Amino acid sequence: MAMRSRLEELNIVRIGTVISYSSLREIGERLLESFHGAIRAFHLAHHDSPMVGSIDAQLLTMVLELEFGGHTLGITDAELKTEDRDAFYHTIIGGKNPRNDVAVVSTRKLCPERIGSDRDYRLMMGRILKVALHEVGHNLGLTDHPEQRFARNGGLCPMSRPGFERLGYRAYVRTVVDGRGLSFCDDCSRFLSMLHGYRCNTDWTKPAGLRPSDC
Ligand SMILES: [Zn+2]
Ligand SMILES: [Zn+2]
Repeated sequence: MAMRSRLEELNIVRIGTVISYSSLREIGERLLESFHGAIRAFHLAHHDSPMVGSIDAQLLTMVLELEFGGHTLGITDAELKTEDRDAFYHTIIGGKNPRNDVAVVSTRKLCPERIGSDRDYRLMMGRILKVALHEVGHNLGLTDHPEQRFARNGGLCPMSRPGFERLGYRAYVRTVVDGRGLSFCDDCSRFLSMLHGYRCNTDWTKPAGLRPSDC
């Protein structure tokens, strides 16, 4: 039996101006498709912050919790710093505060070297979406897969996180983040449907590759 939860509505908060509001909306719509039934609505918001190059990840989650409350995803163009010794150079591309329902994503290391074409922009947006899927997955209780785990459509499950400790950022983003699909593996799907009312959302009328959740 699925319970209705406080997590079914998601605030998506932009910090800084790296992506447009319409792109933010697109990320929200894709999240709704990938978490079909588990997340039912999103609200877009903007958080004003002074121009900073980097910000403490945990502090940011606490500020967002105070300002917006509830289930929240922050997307910032600032570098996210952490005390975590495991994280490369003490910065992270995404993180979740285990004491509230707030996750944050930094676009800083997800940008291609330069954005010179529509293709570069799409690549960056895809990366932001895939890291967002991973962090919101944590908010819903999913845990990292230390190995490669695949969804039925052949893409890496968004919770796959193999080799983070030995790959550099660039290699990690290119091999792991870019290799992820938008659909979860069977174990994650089962967890989401048992605890959060997730339902597979395959639209077979769409050509393969454009289907949000092949399953
Ligand atoms: Zn993780
Ligand atoms: Zn999985």
